Amino acid sequence: MDCIFCDIIKGKSEAEIIYEDENIISFLDIRPLNYGHTLVVPKKHYDNFLSLTPAELDYLTKGLQVISAAVEKSIKADGFNIVVNNGKAAGQTVFHFHFHIIPRFTNDFTFRPSFKKYSDGSMKEFADKIRVELNTKRDSING
Ligand code: 5GP
Ligand code: ZN
Repeated sequence: MDCIFCDIIKGKSEAEIIYEDENIISFLDIRPLNYGHTLVVPKKHYDNFLSLTPAELDYLTKGLQVISAAVEKSIKADGFNIVVNNGKAAGQTVFHFHFHIIPRFTNDFTFRPSFKKYSDGSMKEFADKIRVELNTKRDSING
């Protein structure tokens, strides 16, 4: 399987690596939205967010928090966005799961497309659909 992130992990492709341990690798995005734009990647190949195991998610989010703080502090950013593009429709281009840490500076650019407005009653309809789906999943969250 061709995967640029697996190649970086194996050392077959170069990257500006800022952190690495047995589970996680973190390196700078080659096309940054702001300088210091960082990717946090599990070393094991998972296609997307939904295929991660709870254990992977656990160490990745712990690493994500520490790496985000280091990115923000070191480059004196005013804030940062954590982004996951999940699926082609959402803009995912590399199908090896990763978090983006995008450093932000006051008034740098806007990230917001136009907001939609729920028509009468449709907010509840959407919520009902999601609630029904989630009702069978309570143990996965709480268990
Ligand atoms: P996605 O669009 O899948 O959420 O994000 C993939 C990211 O990986 C993109 O922002 C892209 O710039 C970055 N990327 C793609 N190929 C490479 C590469 O070879 N090296 C590095 N450092 N980043 C890459
Ligand atoms: Zn991969």
